[in-house]
Amino acid sequence: MAEKTIFKKIIDKEIPADIIYEDELCLAFKDLNPQAPVHILVIPKKEIRSLGTIEAEDQTLLGHLLLVIRKLAEDLKLSEGFRTVANTGKDGGQTVDHLHFHLLGQRPLDWPPG
Ligand code: IMP
Repeated sequence: MAEKTIFKKIIDKEIPADIIYEDELCLAFKDLNPQAPVHILVIPKKEIRSLGTIEAEDQTLLGHLLLVIRKLAEDLKLSEGFRTVANTGKDGGQTVDHLHFHLLGQRPLDWPPG
């Protein structure tokens, strides 16, 4: 069996994380290496490798993740805006092979990314 990713270990509560939201489908926790005053990771509990491997059956789950991001942005009062990023694969800069959306905010963010 493939080794669990660090995020799967967080889902299974085998390693600690600063969890700010959890429901039956997903988990949101603070990034260990924040790139903005608010830097949250929103992940599905289902083991999906990346946006590169999503299936039609994941449609409702993916919509749910986006609605959770909107709710968190509201709760965290990111009224000036925020950025949502899903790095995908090697060229996309993905370092953890479990789908995750970064939610960044509370400072102006540059564009384009590196
Ligand atoms: P990626 O580079 O888009 O795959 O993002 C992975 C993110 O996970 C990075 O921003 C890391 O700082 C973050 N990260 C890695 N391990 C942990 C952890 O154990 N807790 C919280 N965040 C983590």
